[in-house]
Amino acid sequence: LPSIVAVSKTFPMSEILPLINHGHIDFGENKVQESVEKWTSIKNDFNHIKLHMVGKLQTNKVKYVVPLFDYIHSLDNLKLAEKISNEQTKKKKKLKIFIQVNIGDEPQKSGVSVDQVENFYVKCTQELDLDIIGIMCLPPKNQNVENYFFEMKSLSKKINVQQLSMGMSDDYLKAAINGSTYLRIGTKIFGNRN
Ligand SMILES: *Cc1c(COP(=O)(O)O)cnc(C)c1O
Repeated sequence: LPSIVAVSKTFPMSEILPLINHGHIDFGENKVQESVEKWTSIKNDFNHIKLHMVGKLQTNKVKYVVPLFDYIHSLDNLKLAEKISNEQTKKKKKLKIFIQVNIGDEPQKSGVSVDQVENFYVKCTQELDLDIIGIMCLPPKNQNVENYFFEMKSLSKKINVQQLSMGMSDDYLKAAINGSTYLRIGTKIFGNRN
């Protein structure tokens, strides 16, 4: 069964604590400053919790992400990979990382293009010593998402990574059927964000 990352962005800790007390482990956020404010002390109190960065990550924020987070789902360029690698060496900590793939080849979306993923993966693992555990996508909306999920599954086999971060509130069942190992679910758990 896939793991569920409860994406708690915009929600206050008071609405997250019931899940923590119920035993939920994996939580996702997309903004660095919000995460530092919300999670720093809670993660000290509950050190079994795993925090997942799912949003676009700027290189100048990496120094805050490496100490606080356990996973990055949104590695999308080489400069960021280099920065993470340097910071991990400094802090003597290694995060589990997904390469974000621009699976629909959409100009407005970040992510490594499909034909570059293998090359990027090799650089990250062999030259930068990153622990790349899988690939992640945000597929195009209003289309047959199953095709994109299927393509992601094939791509993961091609580069030989085990984990697939795909599926959100609207399409998590389709993602699960197509081999997702990490579903990133916000709205269906916490309700609508303002
Ligand atoms: C907000 C967000 C989610 C969760 O989206 P929902 O539709 O609320 O489930 C998943 N992945 C990423 C990258 C997000 O930014």
